[in-house]
Amino acid sequence: MTGSAMGVVTTVRGAVDPDDLGRTLVHEHFFFGYPGHEADRTMWHYDEKELIEKAGQVVEKVRAYGVTTVFDLTPNDCGRDVRLLKEIAERFGIHVVATSGYYHEHEGAAGYFKFRRLFGDIVKELTELFVTELTEGVEGTGIRTGVMKVATSPGRITDYEKATIQAAAAAQQLTGVPILTHTSHGTMGPQQARLLIDSGAEPSKVVIGHMCERAHNIDYQLEVLRQGVGVAFDRIGGTHMFNDVTDDDRMDMVVNLMDRGFGDRVFLAHDSVNHWKGRDSSGFHELPGTENWGIHRIGEYIIPGLLERGLTQNDVDGLLSDNVKHLWKSGS
Ligand SMILES: [Zn+2]
Repeated sequence: MTGSAMGVVTTVRGAVDPDDLGRTLVHEHFFFGYPGHEADRTMWHYDEKELIEKAGQVVEKVRAYGVTTVFDLTPNDCGRDVRLLKEIAERFGIHVVATSGYYHEHEGAAGYFKFRRLFGDIVKELTELFVTELTEGVEGTGIRTGVMKVATSPGRITDYEKATIQAAAAAQQLTGVPILTHTSHGTMGPQQARLLIDSGAEPSKVVIGHMCERAHNIDYQLEVLRQGVGVAFDRIGGTHMFNDVTDDDRMDMVVNLMDRGFGDRVFLAHDSVNHWKGRDSSGFHELPGTENWGIHRIGEYIIPGLLERGLTQNDVDGLLSDNVKHLWKSGS
């Protein structure tokens, strides 16, 4: 194993002790492009400078509530750019952790590895890719990723998605790196956890994502948590697109889970997209239910709301800081 150091967090600027992450948002996007945006490249303008300036505004917003680390959970097939992430981290003095992984078959770029099946074992090829990016770097830049992401389609896990999940579990066994997931429309959370664990992932290093889309459903939450994994309430601020859950629903469920003793396995983020790669999407925040969907929201609404519900500052730091660092300290 080259370049991998168990127990240390790899940010785009290098290794950081988990104790030094501080308050962390585990699922955001400085930029994101749905697969296909590259094919439309003729029709859109790409100004890196502007994008970095915009990222600076994001960093300011999260600093206002003490955040010092952001996981950019953009997978390989959705416009990930580790070189730009490193520039953002250096320029604005924030820890940014980049991701290795693939989006779900339904909306990701599954074509390539489905083709690769003709030549052999894609679980092996994906594992090689993830381990290389985690330990040596991405595309020859020497900039390494620090977490993995897998995703599943609405209501099912396809064969392709299964391969990405098995590869992430195998890569975790070699590197100790946490896996965070995307679930679609509040489905397949328990099945993702089961498949990851059956494929060799360490439950305490797995976080099932977008669980707040079922913020009304305690049974669904418990079905996931009882497998030993974490749950991310990571679409804070969004309502309309996410089963109409509100941030108050989310906070009520966070408190409920804490009362039941699961507080050390709940994670918070927004899944904010600061810049959509592709044609102009500046009207995004005029869409119904998106007016509060932004990276400021945890600081402005969730932290005060949780304190109002009886949580202490210590509890808040547990959710935003301690739980995150334990992803590197537990297990193997
Ligand atoms: Zn996301």
